[in-house]
Amino acid sequence: MTTVGEEMHALVERLYPLCRSITGDGVRATLDIVGEHLPLQVHEVPTGTRVLDWTVPQEWNIRDAYIADASGRRVVDFAASSLHVLGYSVPVAATMPLAELRDHLHTLPDRPSWVPYRTSYYTPEWGFCLSQETLDAMPDGDYEVRIDSTLADGHLTYAEHVVPGQVPEEVIVSCHICHPSLANDNMAGVAVAAFLAKELAERTPYYTYRFVFAPGTIGAITWLARNAERVQRVEHGLVLACAGDPGRLTYKRSRRGDADIDRVVRHVLTASERPHRIDEFTPYGYDERQYCSPGFNLGVGSLSRTPYAAYPEYHTSADNPDFVSPEAMADTLAVCREVFAVLDRNRRYQNLSPYGEPQLGRRGLYDSLGGRSDAKQAQMAMLWVLSMSDGEHDLLDVAERSGLPFDTVADAADALRDAGLIKA
Ligand code: ZN
Repeated sequence: MTTVGEEMHALVERLYPLCRSITGDGVRATLDIVGEHLPLQVHEVPTGTRVLDWTVPQEWNIRDAYIADASGRRVVDFAASSLHVLGYSVPVAATMPLAELRDHLHTLPDRPSWVPYRTSYYTPEWGFCLSQETLDAMPDGDYEVRIDSTLADGHLTYAEHVVPGQVPEEVIVSCHICHPSLANDNMAGVAVAAFLAKELAERTPYYTYRFVFAPGTIGAITWLARNAERVQRVEHGLVLACAGDPGRLTYKRSRRGDADIDRVVRHVLTASERPHRIDEFTPYGYDERQYCSPGFNLGVGSLSRTPYAAYPEYHTSADNPDFVSPEAMADTLAVCREVFAVLDRNRRYQNLSPYGEPQLGRRGLYDSLGGRSDAKQAQMAMLWVLSMSDGEHDLLDVAERSGLPFDTVADAADALRDAGLIKA
């Protein structure tokens, strides 16, 4: 029997080799594979479309690229790894001495066996990324360089998957899909999101959940530009990235800092006693930058394990499927599951009998708990919910102030609501 962690890891391994970028067939191939797990609505936005303050760029596609030595042997070969080409490289076909070629080569001298990930989206440039060890082994002399790429009018591609809820208010879960052969950043995030969507669809959640798979920055900006109306309905959101490395979980708050999602994630991480850290918002990182820009100011935080740029493997060939584990991805998925379970049940109630305690025994609310070992806790939860249901505090406030588990508080609220003592 395979575990969900192993299934997510298998998905990462399948997606890993594809050459993704902010546009192009690598993105489409990625969405095709994700689409085998959950139906996707794929959007194609033409080059030149104005999106907020940006413009959809030309589409980039690449078929082959290499550096060959005088004998014709490929010393750097795109076929071996999509990282070997500077992302968005313009085409080139030339022969030049190593001294001239060096200006176009990117290495990591501190990590001589690793290949860096580099792009040049908005400045026309070409280049190769290779290990320092490979470069050191290249003797002076002439090299043939070829990048068989196309930059042409086309489309920017992104996709959505919606899990319908009981109410039209939405939660967005957003992942960037623009990185080539990198596993943690962000195919692990994509895999966790896909499996989370599948789980949510097994019940009808309270909120409507919208999963957005889009290239970083320009993709989120495009989504926001095309969803001005819908944005009003987005009540909460989470950007998922770096979801599979062995590090502890990190949550970055929304710009608002005290949005419901910020409170819920903090509560879940603390209550679960997982090692974790909570970071304040910064206008950098992933697409929370766009969702939290002041014009939108959405309650969108970012959940990752080790945050971007905080692990040596970040944006290098060492961020490969061996770097992410089924266990870490399953753990990230479990936290997402718990976060959305709390978010879905969290309500603000009004006590309909606020003058003195209502008589619970007469309504069978004490008796119904007889014999249960957690009866005392359930009774306390009812008293706390009644006490704090003044229309200002939600159930999460009740759980935090009482120290009781959120589910116990929410169960008590359900019982009180069914007895007509509180209303949402
Ligand atoms: Zn990245």
